[in-house]
Amino acid sequence: MSIEKAPNFLEDIIAEDVRLGKNDGRVLTRFPPEPNGYLHLGHATSICLNFGLGQKFNGQTNLRFDDTNPVTEDTEYVESIQRDIQWLGFQWGNLFYASDYFEQMYAFAVTLIKKGLAYVEDCSAEEIAAMKGTPTEPGKASPSRNRSVEENLELFEAMRAGKFKEGEKTLRAKIDLASPNMHLRDPLMYRIKFAHHHRTGDKWCIYPMYDFAHGQSDSIEQITHSICTLEFEVHKPLYNWFIEQLGIFPSQQYEFARRNINYTVMSKRKLMQLVNEGHVNGWDDPRMPTISGIRRRGYTAASIRHFCELTGISRRENVIDVSLLEYCIREELNKTATRRMAVINPVKLIIDNYEEGKVEMLTGENNPEVEGGGGTREIPFSRELWIEREDFMEEPPKKFFRLGPGLTVRLKHAYIIKCESFVKNEAGEVSEIHCTYFPESRSGQDTSGIQVKGTMHFVSALHALPVQVNLYDRLFKVENPSAEEGDFKSYINEQSLTVVQNAYVEPALRDADPEEKFQFIRLGYFCFDQDSKRDQMIFNRTVTLKDTWAKEAGK
Ligand code: ATP
Ligand code: MG
Repeated sequence: MSIEKAPNFLEDIIAEDVRLGKNDGRVLTRFPPEPNGYLHLGHATSICLNFGLGQKFNGQTNLRFDDTNPVTEDTEYVESIQRDIQWLGFQWGNLFYASDYFEQMYAFAVTLIKKGLAYVEDCSAEEIAAMKGTPTEPGKASPSRNRSVEENLELFEAMRAGKFKEGEKTLRAKIDLASPNMHLRDPLMYRIKFAHHHRTGDKWCIYPMYDFAHGQSDSIEQITHSICTLEFEVHKPLYNWFIEQLGIFPSQQYEFARRNINYTVMSKRKLMQLVNEGHVNGWDDPRMPTISGIRRRGYTAASIRHFCELTGISRRENVIDVSLLEYCIREELNKTATRRMAVINPVKLIIDNYEEGKVEMLTGENNPEVEGGGGTREIPFSRELWIEREDFMEEPPKKFFRLGPGLTVRLKHAYIIKCESFVKNEAGEVSEIHCTYFPESRSGQDTSGIQVKGTMHFVSALHALPVQVNLYDRLFKVENPSAEEGDFKSYINEQSLTVVQNAYVEPALRDADPEEKFQFIRLGYFCFDQDSKRDQMIFNRTVTLKDTWAKEAGK
Protein backbone atom coordinates (compact mmCIF):
# COMPACT_ATOMS: atom_id res chain seq x y z
CA MET A 1 0.00 0.00 0.00
CA SER A 2 1.36 3.41 -0.85
CA ILE A 3 -0.42 6.33 0.69
CA GLU A 4 0.28 9.98 -0.02
CA LYS A 5 -0.01 12.83 2.41
CA ALA A 6 -3.36 14.55 1.92
CA PRO A 7 -3.54 18.22 0.95
CA ASN A 8 -4.47 20.76 3.61
CA PHE A 9 -6.41 23.75 2.30
CA LEU A 10 -6.01 25.69 5.57
CA GLU A 11 -2.26 25.59 5.15
CA ASP A 12 -2.71 27.40 1.82
CA ILE A 13 -4.98 30.04 3.35
CA ILE A 14 -2.60 30.76 6.20
CA ALA A 15 0.43 30.80 3.90
CA GLU A 16 -1.34 33.46 1.84
CA ASP A 17 -2.18 35.51 4.97
CA VAL A 18 1.44 35.36 6.06
CA ARG A 19 2.61 36.35 2.58
CA LEU A 20 0.30 39.37 2.66
CA GLY A 21 1.62 40.35 6.07
CA LYS A 22 -1.75 40.00 7.77
CA ASN A 23 -1.39 40.37 11.56
CA ASP A 24 2.28 41.17 10.82
CA GLY A 25 2.72 37.59 9.69
CA ARG A 26 1.85 36.30 13.15
CA VAL A 27 -0.03 32.97 13.41
CA LEU A 28 -1.80 31.94 16.61
CA THR A 29 -4.27 29.03 16.67
CA ARG A 30 -6.09 27.43 19.56
CA PHE A 31 -7.54 24.08 20.54
CA PRO A 32 -10.76 24.70 22.50
CA PRO A 33 -12.15 21.52 24.09
CA GLU A 34 -15.10 21.53 26.41
CA PRO A 35 -13.97 19.58 29.50
CA ASN A 36 -17.03 17.32 29.52
CA GLY A 37 -15.42 14.02 28.51
CA TYR A 38 -12.24 12.40 27.23
CA LEU A 39 -10.72 13.32 23.89
CA HIS A 40 -11.28 11.03 20.91
CA LEU A 41 -9.73 10.57 17.47
CA GLY A 42 -11.79 13.44 16.07
CA HIS A 43 -10.13 15.71 18.59
CA ALA A 44 -6.76 14.23 17.64
CA THR A 45 -7.41 15.47 14.11
CA SER A 46 -8.17 18.95 15.40
CA ILE A 47 -5.11 18.89 17.69
CA CYS A 48 -2.75 17.79 14.91
CA LEU A 49 -4.26 20.42 12.65
CA ASN A 50 -4.13 23.35 15.06
CA PHE A 51 -0.78 22.56 16.64
CA GLY A 52 0.62 21.52 13.27
CA LEU A 53 -0.31 24.86 11.69
CA GLY A 54 1.08 26.75 14.69
CA GLN A 55 4.41 24.95 14.30
CA LYS A 56 4.52 25.20 10.54
CA PHE A 57 4.14 28.98 10.57
CA ASN A 58 6.43 29.61 13.55
CA GLY A 59 3.47 30.51 15.67
CA GLN A 60 1.83 28.97 18.67
CA THR A 61 -1.30 27.20 19.75
CA ASN A 62 -3.23 27.96 22.91
CA LEU A 63 -5.08 25.34 24.85
CA ARG A 64 -8.35 26.86 25.95
CA PHE A 65 -10.90 25.01 27.99
CA ASP A 66 -14.29 26.08 26.79
CA ASP A 67 -15.81 25.78 30.25
CA THR A 68 -18.98 27.82 29.98
CA ASN A 69 -21.37 25.01 30.89
CA PRO A 70 -20.78 24.32 34.62
CA VAL A 71 -23.20 21.41 34.75
CA THR A 72 -21.23 18.97 32.57
CA GLU A 73 -17.66 19.99 33.29
CA ASP A 74 -15.16 18.41 35.61
CA THR A 75 -11.48 18.66 36.57
CA GLU A 76 -11.01 14.94 35.79
CA TYR A 77 -11.62 15.84 32.15
CA VAL A 78 -9.40 18.92 32.31
CA GLU A 79 -6.54 16.72 33.47
CA SER A 80 -7.09 13.92 30.98
CA ILE A 81 -7.24 16.40 28.10
CA GLN A 82 -3.87 17.91 29.03
CA ARG A 83 -2.33 14.47 29.41
CA ASP A 84 -3.65 13.36 26.01
CA ILE A 85 -2.41 16.44 24.14
CA GLN A 86 1.06 16.09 25.63
CA TRP A 87 1.12 12.38 24.91
CA LEU A 88 0.30 13.16 21.28
CA GLY A 89 3.51 15.19 21.29
CA PHE A 90 2.26 18.77 21.43
CA GLN A 91 2.84 21.60 23.86
CA TRP A 92 0.55 24.60 24.07
CA GLY A 93 1.78 28.19 24.15
CA ASN A 94 -0.65 29.34 26.83
CA LEU A 95 -3.23 27.52 28.85
CA PHE A 96 -6.46 29.44 29.32
CA TYR A 97 -9.99 28.84 30.44
CA ALA A 98 -12.97 30.63 28.93
CA SER A 99 -13.97 31.14 32.56
CA ASP A 100 -10.85 33.35 32.94
CA TYR A 101 -12.76 35.84 30.80
CA PHE A 102 -16.14 35.85 32.55
CA GLU A 103 -15.57 39.34 33.94
CA GLN A 104 -14.40 40.65 30.56
CA MET A 105 -17.32 38.99 28.76
CA TYR A 106 -19.71 40.56 31.20
CA ALA A 107 -18.17 43.94 30.39
CA PHE A 108 -18.55 43.21 26.65
CA ALA A 109 -22.22 42.42 27.22
CA VAL A 110 -22.68 45.72 29.08
CA THR A 111 -21.03 47.54 26.15
CA LEU A 112 -23.53 45.97 23.75
CA ILE A 113 -26.46 46.86 26.03
CA LYS A 114 -25.20 50.47 26.16
CA LYS A 115 -25.05 50.52 22.36
CA GLY A 116 -28.66 49.37 22.26
CA LEU A 117 -27.53 46.01 20.79
CA ALA A 118 -28.59 43.68 23.59
CA TYR A 119 -31.63 43.35 25.84
CA VAL A 120 -32.89 41.36 28.79
CA GLU A 121 -35.62 38.97 27.73
CA ASP A 122 -38.53 37.98 29.98
CA CYS A 123 -39.91 35.24 27.76
CA SER A 124 -39.17 31.58 28.43
CA ALA A 125 -37.15 29.41 26.05
CA GLU A 126 -40.39 27.93 24.67
CA GLU A 127 -41.90 31.35 24.06
CA ILE A 128 -38.75 32.54 22.32
CA ALA A 129 -38.75 29.46 20.11
CA ALA A 130 -42.40 30.00 19.23
CA MET A 131 -41.64 33.57 18.11
CA LYS A 132 -38.52 32.67 16.11
CA GLY A 133 -40.32 32.09 12.81
CA THR A 134 -38.96 29.81 10.11
CA PRO A 135 -36.18 30.34 7.56
CA THR A 136 -38.79 31.75 5.15
CA GLU A 137 -40.95 33.51 7.72
CA PRO A 138 -39.60 36.35 9.88
CA GLY A 139 -39.65 36.07 13.66
CA LYS A 140 -41.74 38.23 15.97
CA ALA A 141 -40.39 40.73 18.45
CA SER A 142 -41.06 40.02 22.09
CA PRO A 143 -42.28 42.87 24.33
CA SER A 144 -38.82 42.92 25.97
CA ARG A 145 -37.13 44.01 22.76
CA ASN A 146 -37.93 47.68 23.29
CA ARG A 147 -36.63 48.06 26.82
CA SER A 148 -34.59 51.14 27.52
CA VAL A 149 -30.83 50.88 27.90
CA GLU A 150 -31.13 51.91 31.57
CA GLU A 151 -33.66 49.21 32.33
CA ASN A 152 -31.58 46.59 30.52
CA LEU A 153 -28.47 47.55 32.45
CA GLU A 154 -30.34 47.34 35.72
CA LEU A 155 -31.92 43.97 34.90
CA PHE A 156 -28.68 42.46 33.64
CA GLU A 157 -26.96 43.48 36.86
CA ALA A 158 -29.83 41.94 38.81
CA MET A 159 -29.41 38.73 36.80
CA ARG A 160 -25.78 38.60 37.83
CA ALA A 161 -26.71 39.32 41.44
CA GLY A 162 -28.94 36.25 41.53
CA LYS A 163 -32.23 38.13 41.79
CA PHE A 164 -33.99 35.87 39.25
CA LYS A 165 -34.65 32.20 38.96
CA GLU A 166 -33.22 29.97 36.20
CA GLY A 167 -35.12 30.47 32.96
CA GLU A 168 -36.79 33.64 34.19
CA LYS A 169 -34.54 36.01 32.23
CA THR A 170 -31.94 35.78 29.47
CA LEU A 171 -29.80 38.32 27.66
CA ARG A 172 -30.27 38.48 23.88
CA ALA A 173 -28.39 40.28 21.15
CA LYS A 174 -30.58 42.68 19.17
CA ILE A 175 -29.77 41.91 15.55
CA ASP A 176 -32.36 41.02 12.92
CA LEU A 177 -35.54 39.02 13.46
CA ALA A 178 -36.06 38.69 9.72
CA SER A 179 -32.57 37.38 8.88
CA PRO A 180 -32.57 34.23 6.75
CA ASN A 181 -29.82 33.04 9.10
CA MET A 182 -31.67 31.90 12.22
CA HIS A 183 -28.56 32.42 14.33
CA LEU A 184 -28.92 36.18 13.75
CA ARG A 185 -32.52 36.33 15.03
CA ASP A 186 -31.64 37.86 18.37
CA PRO A 187 -29.53 34.94 19.69
CA LEU A 188 -29.09 34.29 23.39
CA MET A 189 -25.94 35.67 24.98
CA TYR A 190 -26.43 34.74 28.65
CA ARG A 191 -28.56 32.36 30.67
CA ILE A 192 -29.06 31.98 34.42
CA LYS A 193 -27.66 28.82 35.99
CA PHE A 194 -27.26 28.25 39.71
CA ALA A 195 -24.57 25.65 39.29
CA HIS A 196 -21.17 25.20 40.90
CA HIS A 197 -18.43 25.83 38.35
CA HIS A 198 -15.27 23.69 38.46
CA ARG A 199 -13.11 26.85 38.63
CA THR A 200 -15.19 29.88 39.53
CA GLY A 201 -17.21 28.02 42.16
CA ASP A 202 -20.38 29.91 43.06
CA LYS A 203 -19.16 33.31 41.97
CA TRP A 204 -21.41 33.40 38.91
CA CYS A 205 -25.01 32.47 38.34
CA ILE A 206 -25.10 33.72 34.76
CA TYR A 207 -23.06 32.00 32.06
CA PRO A 208 -22.32 33.13 28.48
CA MET A 209 -23.61 31.00 25.61
CA TYR A 210 -21.13 29.33 23.24
CA ASP A 211 -21.65 31.92 20.49
CA PHE A 212 -20.90 34.83 22.77
CA ALA A 213 -18.06 33.16 24.66
CA HIS A 214 -16.16 31.56 21.83
CA GLY A 215 -15.44 34.44 19.48
CA GLN A 216 -14.79 36.84 22.34
CA SER A 217 -12.28 34.40 23.87
CA ASP A 218 -10.55 34.08 20.49
CA SER A 219 -10.40 37.84 20.23
CA ILE A 220 -9.09 38.40 23.78
CA GLU A 221 -6.24 35.96 23.04
CA GLN A 222 -5.70 37.55 19.61
CA ILE A 223 -6.13 34.22 17.87
CA THR A 224 -5.46 34.79 14.17
CA HIS A 225 -7.04 31.63 12.75
CA SER A 226 -9.90 30.06 14.68
CA ILE A 227 -10.51 26.62 13.20
CA CYS A 228 -13.68 24.66 13.90
CA THR A 229 -15.85 21.99 12.32
CA LEU A 230 -18.40 22.65 9.58
CA GLU A 231 -21.50 22.81 11.76
CA PHE A 232 -20.25 26.22 12.93
CA GLU A 233 -20.20 27.69 9.45
CA VAL A 234 -23.71 29.08 9.95
CA HIS A 235 -22.56 30.67 13.19
CA LYS A 236 -19.83 32.65 11.44
CA PRO A 237 -21.91 35.77 10.65
CA LEU A 238 -22.74 35.97 14.36
CA TYR A 239 -19.10 35.38 15.32
CA ASN A 240 -18.16 38.33 13.09
CA TRP A 241 -21.07 40.51 14.24
CA PHE A 242 -20.02 40.43 17.93
CA ILE A 243 -16.41 41.21 17.03
CA GLU A 244 -17.41 44.09 14.77
CA GLN A 245 -19.87 45.64 17.20
CA LEU A 246 -17.37 45.42 20.04
CA GLY A 247 -14.53 46.67 17.86
CA ILE A 248 -12.16 44.06 19.24
CA PHE A 249 -9.36 42.00 17.66
CA PRO A 250 -10.71 40.46 14.44
CA SER A 251 -10.06 36.73 14.80
CA GLN A 252 -11.20 34.82 11.71
CA GLN A 253 -13.12 31.56 11.74
CA TYR A 254 -12.42 28.70 9.28
CA GLU A 255 -14.22 25.38 9.05
CA PHE A 256 -13.38 21.82 8.04
CA ALA A 257 -15.38 18.57 8.02
CA ARG A 258 -15.50 16.49 11.21
CA ARG A 259 -13.42 13.36 11.30
CA ASN A 260 -15.56 10.22 11.18
CA ILE A 261 -14.24 6.65 11.32
CA ASN A 262 -16.30 3.57 10.59
CA TYR A 263 -17.29 0.88 13.13
CA THR A 264 -17.21 3.36 15.98
CA VAL A 265 -18.93 6.44 17.37
CA MET A 266 -17.18 9.74 17.84
CA SER A 267 -19.08 11.94 20.18
CA LYS A 268 -18.28 12.48 23.83
CA ARG A 269 -21.97 12.20 24.68
CA LYS A 270 -22.23 8.74 23.11
CA LEU A 271 -18.89 7.57 24.47
CA MET A 272 -20.05 8.71 27.92
CA GLN A 273 -23.10 6.42 27.60
CA LEU A 274 -20.87 3.45 26.75
CA VAL A 275 -18.85 4.15 29.91
CA ASN A 276 -21.74 4.92 32.25
CA GLU A 277 -23.84 1.97 31.15
CA GLY A 278 -20.95 -0.46 31.46
CA HIS A 279 -20.65 -1.47 27.80
CA VAL A 280 -16.90 -0.85 28.10
CA ASN A 281 -14.49 -0.77 31.02
CA GLY A 282 -14.02 2.99 31.27
CA TRP A 283 -12.94 5.81 28.98
CA ASP A 284 -9.58 4.14 28.42
CA ASP A 285 -10.98 0.75 27.43
CA PRO A 286 -8.77 -0.35 24.51
CA ARG A 287 -11.84 -0.68 22.29
CA MET A 288 -12.75 2.98 22.70
CA PRO A 289 -11.80 5.54 20.01
CA THR A 290 -10.58 7.82 22.80
CA ILE A 291 -6.94 8.87 22.82
CA SER A 292 -6.51 7.17 26.19
CA GLY A 293 -8.20 4.01 24.86
CA ILE A 294 -6.07 3.63 21.77
CA ARG A 295 -2.96 4.41 23.80
CA ARG A 296 -3.84 1.54 26.13
CA ARG A 297 -4.50 -0.59 23.05
CA GLY A 298 -0.86 -0.03 22.08
CA TYR A 299 -1.08 2.70 19.47
CA THR A 300 1.81 5.15 19.53
CA ALA A 301 1.51 8.91 19.29
CA ALA A 302 3.52 8.85 16.04
CA SER A 303 1.04 6.44 14.46
CA ILE A 304 -1.89 8.72 15.35
CA ARG A 305 -0.07 11.76 13.97
CA HIS A 306 0.69 9.79 10.81
CA PHE A 307 -2.97 8.82 10.51
CA CYS A 308 -4.03 12.47 10.83
CA GLU A 309 -1.50 13.51 8.24
CA LEU A 310 -2.59 10.83 5.77
CA THR A 311 -6.29 11.55 6.16
CA GLY A 312 -5.82 15.31 6.03
CA ILE A 313 -8.79 17.63 6.23
CA SER A 314 -11.47 18.64 3.80
CA ARG A 315 -14.69 20.60 3.61
CA ARG A 316 -16.66 17.56 2.53
CA GLU A 317 -18.19 15.09 5.00
CA ASN A 318 -16.37 11.77 4.79
CA VAL A 319 -15.86 8.56 6.70
CA ILE A 320 -12.39 7.10 7.06
CA ASP A 321 -11.95 3.34 7.07
CA VAL A 322 -10.58 2.14 10.39
CA SER A 323 -8.22 -0.14 8.48
CA LEU A 324 -6.20 2.97 7.59
CA LEU A 325 -5.63 3.58 11.29
CA GLU A 326 -4.55 -0.04 11.65
CA TYR A 327 -2.26 0.30 8.66
CA CYS A 328 -0.50 3.24 10.38
CA ILE A 329 0.28 1.31 13.56
CA ARG A 330 1.22 -1.90 11.72
CA GLU A 331 3.64 -0.07 9.53
CA GLU A 332 5.35 1.48 12.54
CA LEU A 333 5.38 -1.60 14.75
CA ASN A 334 6.73 -3.77 11.95
CA LYS A 335 9.85 -1.61 12.13
CA THR A 336 10.07 -1.16 15.88
CA ALA A 337 8.36 -3.98 17.79
CA THR A 338 10.43 -6.57 19.63
CA ARG A 339 9.76 -10.09 18.33
CA ARG A 340 8.76 -12.71 20.87
CA MET A 341 6.96 -16.04 20.88
CA ALA A 342 3.64 -16.62 22.62
CA VAL A 343 1.00 -19.32 22.37
CA ILE A 344 -2.54 -18.22 23.00
CA ASN A 345 -4.48 -21.43 22.39
CA PRO A 346 -2.04 -24.03 23.69
CA VAL A 347 -1.80 -27.74 23.07
CA LYS A 348 1.09 -29.90 24.30
CA LEU A 349 3.71 -31.16 21.84
CA ILE A 350 6.18 -33.82 22.97
CA ILE A 351 9.40 -34.61 21.13
CA ASP A 352 9.83 -38.29 21.88
CA ASN A 353 13.45 -38.56 20.73
CA TYR A 354 14.63 -35.45 22.66
CA GLU A 355 16.40 -36.30 25.88
CA GLU A 356 14.29 -35.82 29.00
CA GLY A 357 15.57 -33.04 31.26
CA LYS A 358 17.78 -31.56 28.53
CA VAL A 359 17.54 -27.80 27.85
CA GLU A 360 19.18 -25.99 24.95
CA MET A 361 19.39 -22.25 24.67
CA LEU A 362 18.58 -21.10 21.15
CA THR A 363 19.20 -17.61 19.83
CA GLY A 364 16.57 -15.39 18.27
CA GLU A 365 16.89 -11.92 16.79
CA ASN A 366 14.89 -9.25 18.54
CA ASN A 367 13.88 -7.60 15.31
CA PRO A 368 14.92 -8.68 11.82
CA GLU A 369 13.68 -5.33 10.43
CA VAL A 370 16.43 -3.49 12.28
CA GLU A 371 19.91 -3.56 10.85
CA GLY A 372 21.91 -6.17 12.72
CA GLY A 373 18.72 -7.76 14.08
CA GLY A 374 18.25 -5.43 17.04
CA GLY A 375 20.19 -7.73 19.35
CA THR A 376 19.21 -11.23 20.35
CA ARG A 377 17.62 -13.10 23.22
CA GLU A 378 17.91 -16.69 24.39
CA ILE A 379 15.01 -19.03 23.80
CA PRO A 380 14.90 -22.23 25.84
CA PHE A 381 14.10 -25.47 24.03
CA SER A 382 13.17 -28.75 25.71
CA ARG A 383 11.24 -31.96 25.24
CA GLU A 384 7.79 -30.59 25.93
CA LEU A 385 6.51 -27.53 24.14
CA TRP A 386 3.31 -25.54 23.77
CA ILE A 387 2.10 -24.88 20.26
CA GLU A 388 -1.11 -23.35 18.88
CA ARG A 389 -4.01 -25.75 18.67
CA GLU A 390 -4.83 -24.33 15.20
CA ASP A 391 -1.43 -25.43 13.96
CA PHE A 392 -2.42 -29.09 14.13
CA MET A 393 -5.02 -30.97 12.11
CA GLU A 394 -5.94 -34.62 12.46
CA GLU A 395 -6.75 -34.82 8.76
CA PRO A 396 -4.91 -31.95 7.15
CA PRO A 397 -5.98 -30.88 3.67
CA LYS A 398 -3.39 -30.43 0.92
CA LYS A 399 -1.31 -27.29 1.28
CA PHE A 400 -1.65 -27.32 5.07
CA PHE A 401 1.97 -26.47 5.83
CA ARG A 402 1.68 -27.01 9.53
CA LEU A 403 1.34 -30.16 11.64
CA GLY A 404 -0.69 -33.29 11.01
CA PRO A 405 0.15 -36.99 11.08
CA GLY A 406 3.32 -37.52 9.01
CA LEU A 407 3.89 -33.81 8.28
CA THR A 408 7.14 -31.92 8.88
CA VAL A 409 7.60 -28.28 9.88
CA ARG A 410 10.30 -26.09 11.30
CA LEU A 411 9.99 -24.73 14.80
CA LYS A 412 11.10 -21.09 14.69
CA HIS A 413 14.77 -20.63 15.70
CA ALA A 414 14.88 -24.39 16.48
CA TYR A 415 14.58 -27.74 14.75
CA ILE A 416 12.59 -29.47 12.05
CA ILE A 417 10.09 -31.87 13.56
CA LYS A 418 7.89 -34.62 12.19
CA CYS A 419 4.48 -35.50 13.62
CA GLU A 420 4.27 -39.18 14.53
CA SER A 421 1.02 -39.52 16.46
CA PHE A 422 -1.47 -37.77 18.68
CA VAL A 423 -3.55 -38.51 21.77
CA LYS A 424 -7.10 -37.44 22.52
CA ASN A 425 -8.69 -36.95 25.91
CA GLU A 426 -12.10 -38.21 27.05
CA ALA A 427 -13.80 -35.19 25.56
CA GLY A 428 -12.41 -36.12 22.17
CA GLU A 429 -10.00 -33.17 22.06
CA VAL A 430 -6.42 -33.55 20.93
CA SER A 431 -4.42 -33.38 24.15
CA GLU A 432 -0.90 -34.39 23.10
CA ILE A 433 0.95 -34.35 19.83
CA HIS A 434 3.96 -36.63 19.55
CA CYS A 435 6.84 -35.76 17.23
CA THR A 436 10.43 -36.62 16.50
CA TYR A 437 13.07 -34.03 15.74
CA PHE A 438 16.06 -34.00 13.40
CA PRO A 439 19.13 -33.14 15.49
CA GLU A 440 21.12 -31.88 12.48
CA SER A 441 18.39 -29.37 11.47
CA ARG A 442 19.03 -26.71 14.10
CA SER A 443 18.43 -23.21 12.74
CA GLY A 444 21.58 -21.50 11.57
CA GLN A 445 23.52 -24.78 11.41
CA ASP A 446 21.15 -26.98 9.43
CA THR A 447 22.89 -29.79 7.57
CA SER A 448 19.85 -32.09 7.38
CA GLY A 449 18.97 -31.28 3.79
CA ILE A 450 15.28 -31.56 4.69
CA GLN A 451 12.96 -29.09 2.98
CA VAL A 452 9.89 -27.83 4.83
CA LYS A 453 7.27 -25.30 3.78
CA GLY A 454 6.02 -24.10 7.16
CA THR A 455 7.52 -22.50 10.25
CA MET A 456 5.67 -22.53 13.55
CA HIS A 457 6.14 -20.74 16.83
CA PHE A 458 6.28 -22.49 20.21
CA VAL A 459 7.11 -21.97 23.85
CA SER A 460 9.05 -24.46 25.97
CA ALA A 461 6.53 -25.81 28.50
CA LEU A 462 9.08 -25.97 31.30
CA HIS A 463 9.99 -22.30 30.85
CA ALA A 464 6.71 -20.78 29.71
CA LEU A 465 5.24 -17.88 31.65
CA PRO A 466 1.47 -18.07 32.01
CA VAL A 467 -0.14 -14.76 31.06
CA GLN A 468 -3.48 -13.21 30.21
CA VAL A 469 -4.05 -11.96 26.70
CA ASN A 470 -6.85 -9.61 25.64
CA LEU A 471 -7.93 -9.88 22.02
CA TYR A 472 -10.03 -7.09 20.56
CA ASP A 473 -12.39 -6.75 17.69
CA ARG A 474 -14.42 -3.79 16.45
CA LEU A 475 -16.73 -2.30 19.03
CA PHE A 476 -19.68 -2.14 16.62
CA LYS A 477 -21.05 -4.63 14.12
CA VAL A 478 -22.10 -1.99 11.60
CA GLU A 479 -20.14 0.69 9.79
CA ASN A 480 -22.09 3.65 11.08
CA PRO A 481 -23.97 2.81 14.28
CA SER A 482 -25.21 6.39 14.66
CA ALA A 483 -26.99 6.26 11.30
CA GLU A 484 -28.82 2.99 12.02
CA GLU A 485 -32.37 2.78 13.25
CA GLY A 486 -32.90 2.76 17.02
CA ASP A 487 -30.33 2.98 19.76
CA PHE A 488 -26.73 2.98 18.52
CA LYS A 489 -25.85 0.72 21.45
CA SER A 490 -27.93 -2.12 20.06
CA TYR A 491 -25.22 -2.49 17.39
CA ILE A 492 -22.42 -3.20 19.84
CA ASN A 493 -20.32 -6.22 18.86
CA GLU A 494 -20.72 -8.63 21.78
CA GLN A 495 -17.51 -10.37 20.72
CA SER A 496 -15.39 -7.25 20.79
CA LEU A 497 -13.29 -8.54 23.71
CA THR A 498 -11.93 -12.05 24.16
CA VAL A 499 -10.00 -12.62 27.37
CA VAL A 500 -7.54 -15.53 27.17
CA GLN A 501 -6.53 -16.54 30.69
CA ASN A 502 -4.14 -19.38 29.92
CA ALA A 503 -1.75 -18.15 27.27
CA TYR A 504 2.00 -18.78 27.47
CA VAL A 505 4.91 -16.54 26.56
CA GLU A 506 8.64 -17.10 26.35
CA PRO A 507 10.64 -16.21 29.48
CA ALA A 508 12.47 -13.26 27.87
CA LEU A 509 9.28 -11.26 28.41
CA ARG A 510 9.83 -11.37 32.13
CA ASP A 511 12.27 -8.46 31.94
CA ALA A 512 10.43 -6.44 29.33
CA ASP A 513 9.94 -2.71 29.69
CA PRO A 514 6.28 -1.84 30.43
CA GLU A 515 6.25 0.66 27.54
CA GLU A 516 7.70 -1.84 25.08
CA LYS A 517 5.70 -3.04 22.07
CA PHE A 518 5.93 -6.61 20.82
CA GLN A 519 5.23 -8.67 17.82
CA PHE A 520 4.15 -12.11 18.98
CA ILE A 521 5.28 -14.03 15.95
CA ARG A 522 2.35 -14.96 13.68
CA LEU A 523 -0.21 -13.56 16.17
CA GLY A 524 -0.03 -9.79 15.95
CA TYR A 525 1.29 -6.78 17.83
CA PHE A 526 0.89 -6.64 21.58
CA CYS A 527 1.62 -4.33 24.49
CA PHE A 528 1.53 -4.61 28.24
CA ASP A 529 -1.74 -3.57 29.73
CA GLN A 530 -1.38 -0.94 32.42
CA ASP A 531 -2.87 -3.32 34.99
CA SER A 532 -0.03 -5.83 34.40
CA LYS A 533 2.12 -6.97 37.27
CA ARG A 534 5.44 -8.81 36.97
CA ASP A 535 3.92 -12.05 38.23
CA GLN A 536 0.58 -11.51 36.50
CA MET A 537 1.25 -10.13 33.07
CA ILE A 538 -1.56 -8.96 30.81
CA PHE A 539 -1.03 -8.27 27.11
CA ASN A 540 -3.39 -6.34 24.85
CA ARG A 541 -3.43 -7.14 21.18
CA THR A 542 -3.07 -3.83 19.37
CA VAL A 543 -3.70 -5.21 15.91
CA THR A 544 -3.32 -8.43 13.97
CA LEU A 545 -0.46 -8.83 11.49
CA LYS A 546 -2.75 -8.66 8.49
CA ASP A 547 -6.02 -6.94 7.77
CA THR A 548 -8.36 -9.89 8.20
CA TRP A 549 -11.44 -7.72 7.68
CA ALA A 550 -10.42 -6.60 4.23
CA LYS A 551 -10.13 -10.27 3.28
CA GLU A 552 -13.57 -11.10 4.67
CA ALA A 553 -15.17 -8.19 2.90
CA GLY A 554 -13.64 -9.45 -0.33
CA LYS A 555 -11.77 -6.19 -0.85
P1 ATP B 1 -18.20 15.98 20.84
O1 ATP B 1 -19.46 16.05 20.05
O2 ATP B 1 -17.48 14.69 20.72
O3 ATP B 1 -18.38 16.40 22.25
P2 ATP B 1 -17.30 18.59 20.35
O4 ATP B 1 -17.07 19.24 19.05
O5 ATP B 1 -18.48 19.02 21.13
O6 ATP B 1 -17.26 17.05 20.14
P3 ATP B 1 -15.30 19.99 21.80
O7 ATP B 1 -14.65 19.63 23.08
O8 ATP B 1 -16.19 21.14 21.79
O9 ATP B 1 -16.05 18.70 21.29
O10 ATP B 1 -14.21 20.10 20.64
C1 ATP B 1 -12.94 20.69 20.72
C2 ATP B 1 -12.44 20.87 19.34
O11 ATP B 1 -12.30 19.62 18.68
C3 ATP B 1 -13.39 21.71 18.51
O12 ATP B 1 -12.66 22.66 17.79
C4 ATP B 1 -14.05 20.72 17.61
O13 ATP B 1 -14.42 21.29 16.40
C5 ATP B 1 -12.97 19.64 17.44
N1 ATP B 1 -13.58 18.35 17.16
C6 ATP B 1 -14.45 17.66 17.93
N2 ATP B 1 -14.85 16.53 17.32
C7 ATP B 1 -14.21 16.49 16.13
C8 ATP B 1 -14.20 15.57 15.04
N3 ATP B 1 -14.94 14.46 15.03
N4 ATP B 1 -13.41 15.85 13.98
C9 ATP B 1 -12.66 16.95 13.96
N5 ATP B 1 -12.62 17.86 14.95
C10 ATP B 1 -13.39 17.64 16.03
MG1 MG C 1 -19.03 20.60 22.22
